[in-house]
Amino acid sequence: MEQDQKMNELNGGIRFIKGIGEARAKALEKLDIHTLYDLVSYFPRDYEDRSAVKPIADVQDGENCCVKAVVATAPTLARIRKGMELVKFRIADESGAANVTFFNQSYVKRNIARGGVYTFYGRFSRMGLHFELTNPVYEKADGGGVNTGRIVPVYRLTSGISRNVLSNAIEQGLKAADGLLKGVLPDHIERKYGFISSQQAYRAIHFPKDMAEAACARRRLIFEELFTLACALGSMKSRNTERSGTVIPMPETEKFYSSLPFELTGAQKRAVGDILADMSSGRAMNRLVQGDVGSGKTVVAAAAVWAAVRAGYQSAFMAPTELLADQHYNTFTKLLAPFGVKTVLLKGSMTAKQKKEIRELIALGEAELVIGTHALLSENVVFKKLALAITDEQHRFGVRQRTALSEKSDDPHVLVMSATPIPRTLALIIYGDLDVSVIDELPPGRKTTETFAVSEDKRERLNGFIRKTVSEGRQVYVVCPMIEENDDLSLHSAEEHFEQLRDVVFPDLRVALLHGKMRSAEKTDVMRRFAGGEIDILVSTTVIEVGVDVPNAVVMVIENAERFGLSQLHQLRGRVGRGADKSYCFLMRGSRGAESDERLRAMTRLSDGFKLSEEDLRLRGPGDFFGSRQHGMPEMKIASLADSLDVLSAAQDEAQKLLETDPELKKYPELEKRVKKLFEIKLN
Ligand code: ADP
Ligand code: MG
Repeated sequence: MEQDQKMNELNGGIRFIKGIGEARAKALEKLDIHTLYDLVSYFPRDYEDRSAVKPIADVQDGENCCVKAVVATAPTLARIRKGMELVKFRIADESGAANVTFFNQSYVKRNIARGGVYTFYGRFSRMGLHFELTNPVYEKADGGGVNTGRIVPVYRLTSGISRNVLSNAIEQGLKAADGLLKGVLPDHIERKYGFISSQQAYRAIHFPKDMAEAACARRRLIFEELFTLACALGSMKSRNTERSGTVIPMPETEKFYSSLPFELTGAQKRAVGDILADMSSGRAMNRLVQGDVGSGKTVVAAAAVWAAVRAGYQSAFMAPTELLADQHYNTFTKLLAPFGVKTVLLKGSMTAKQKKEIRELIALGEAELVIGTHALLSENVVFKKLALAITDEQHRFGVRQRTALSEKSDDPHVLVMSATPIPRTLALIIYGDLDVSVIDELPPGRKTTETFAVSEDKRERLNGFIRKTVSEGRQVYVVCPMIEENDDLSLHSAEEHFEQLRDVVFPDLRVALLHGKMRSAEKTDVMRRFAGGEIDILVSTTVIEVGVDVPNAVVMVIENAERFGLSQLHQLRGRVGRGADKSYCFLMRGSRGAESDERLRAMTRLSDGFKLSEEDLRLRGPGDFFGSRQHGMPEMKIASLADSLDVLSAAQDEAQKLLETDPELKKYPELEKRVKKLFEIKLN
């Protein structure tokens, strides 16, 4: 009872905090801070070490540090021109003196008194004989300083929330949460790793005494976060194993293979072999087929469907977008035509009448393969004898949705397919509940897509290249990061860029636009025309990211490529290089930055999705990696630093051990609660 009340306090709002009124509470929501718990677990991105307090004489030119000094002259206020006010005074300690200037902060004149002793923090620069200190942070030297003389946290901020406002709110929040932040690690784990207590960790992560303490706090909190995730995924796995499944007799695969227009690769055959073995085993299959874009996963799924239909059962195939559902419907219809498989399509945008008819075919068992979007999950879709549930591009669905399709019948065989390669270190955690087949071989004759990172000054040449490509009968994708005009003008919105290309740059070519906010029928129409060669240049947002397959498109331009993560760039690039001819990808750089440059360089250097994913992990750390929508994982609050990689395997091991002894976490109610919560929020 009392426990619940305490939990409620943590889950309660933050308006009780001094300085947080309606406006700031609203602003904090933009940082996803709603509750007291959110507030205290809003972890710093970095620290600024203001702990060193130096005699003025020891300060170096250009150094950031604190000095403790007396105000030696009365502050003067000067207006040098309209809108520009200066407050100036001199400070001194026993070793030396410095001039202090505040720009446009005239209130300082009232706050600072001659003879007062303050701690100042800022950047010192030498001007002739004297030091100049401009707009420093200052506090009375007597009281316990919050912003000087210690390590100060650096947070991601938003407008209306300054650093001071946030650290003061967190300081108060920590006091209010005193005794509530119990943490969810079992005692034996806390002891084994010598972790500091949860309560201590929360305080120290925000306001560490020194960097060593901050590191201790981080170590514990990262472990706790990854451990919780590993428990969540692990418990899902234990629920999924040992299900019995419909026996689908092992068919003679040659019959299927010989109907195809191409020879399967060895990797494809191995994946088909894994699947057919699973489905004939008497246990329910729970398998992931992981293969880079273009590795040919669709035909592998088709083989599984073929086997299920032969045995007299229905299959369902769920795609993340209507576009893909359409495309798959066409592909499967063709692939399975020789076997007379009755295939239907079900998607949200159909009329009620159409949907009803399709649902009837499904319920009667006449539809042998049902392809659709998450509309398939709707509860009035009832299968007569569903034995195989396939989810394509599963990372686009939440973990929840992926399991939802399998709830459409008793223990169907579950096959999920993903084109998002995962570094081996993470695969175990992310796909903890699945067996994995990897398609690590591309169909023969594929050439790697030559990739260049270019800047605006190459625009003319690039446009020339596009024109040449189109004149050779080929097609071009241009991908933009945003749909509508953004307040950031440097961003090419797809719409604006489209108009520019259509009206100004290529008025003689057929240019079309595709974005997520278009009606489904429009999107389908544009895609159909592009696939049919009626469009030369397709300007689009990332809606084309997954699965779209138009082999005649051989050039892709990605605008503001620095805005995209590596795995997304890789997915996008996978739309070209799908035919036998050489393809090109141009990463148009809108702005430069060390991290984004490195990302783009990785793209030009590497084509293998697994290698890129390792690089991605190295650049971003596992937390960001999980957090990105690419993997359908919940967002991590802290485990986003590369240094949390080591912790990952330890957390994974401990979670596994714990789940072996207590699969339902009965002995760990706090942990159980947190685990449940993890997949409630944030997924779609
Ligand atoms: P993804 O793994 O990205 O879903 P797809 O299944 O869409 O890849 O296949 C990409 C393209 O490669 C399709 O045009 C498909 O017909 C073709 N393809 C698949 N397997 C082979 C193969 N073994 N040989 C030649 N082409 C293949
Ligand atoms: Mg695919």
